[in-house]
Amino acid sequence: MESARPRLLLVEDERPLAALLADLLTDEGYDVDLAADGQSGLHLALAGEYQLMIVDRGLPVLDGLALVNVLRQRGVTCPVLMLTARGALDDRVEGLDAGAEDYLVKPFEVPELLARLRALRRRHQDVASRLPLGPRRWLDVGNRRVLDDGEEIPLSVREFAVLRALAGRPMKVFTRAELLSTAFAHADAPGSVDACVHHLRRKLGRGAIRTVHGLGYRMGTG
Ligand code: CA
Repeated sequence: MESARPRLLLVEDERPLAALLADLLTDEGYDVDLAADGQSGLHLALAGEYQLMIVDRGLPVLDGLALVNVLRQRGVTCPVLMLTARGALDDRVEGLDAGAEDYLVKPFEVPELLARLRALRRRHQDVASRLPLGPRRWLDVGNRRVLDDGEEIPLSVREFAVLRALAGRPMKVFTRAELLSTAFAHADAPGSVDACVHHLRRKLGRGAIRTVHGLGYRMGTG
């Protein structure tokens, strides 16, 4: 029988803390998988369906920031709470920029951790998924808009479809034909992709989408 408990991935290399947290989270009602380094965390995260992840920032093999970055690049939108021994503002901003939704500094009180996890799950149910577009800029997939440092930038249906395709695979160069078939009715001319990119650049900045001459378009850096 399939478990109705929410699945949580815990990536933490301090074994006593990991074991303690796994016990507490199991008592709290989560179905917990544990990974002790970033690489095995990545494998589990890509293979499984998790409702939440807790990722330590300092991890062997692949650190927590890199792990979350790779997950977001692959389109994994599961909410992540990042743990860290460091509490400097820059560390916190880096964690959030990498795609973590929340950040907790060690040592922390267990009730605070549990409350943050509950808040994350509630928030995530409101927002179907988010894809990173750049520092502090997200594509809010559920609400068809861009959030830029908390400011909403509304998108048309077509703008959203083009941006969703590009942001979902940020390393890929999309041809006009690919974007046309992804985002437009087939009767549309290839030029409508260019018009759509033009509108997106006006809303998001010239650098938001890169032209790859002779090929098509890919995600820019903002
Ligand atoms: Ca660590």
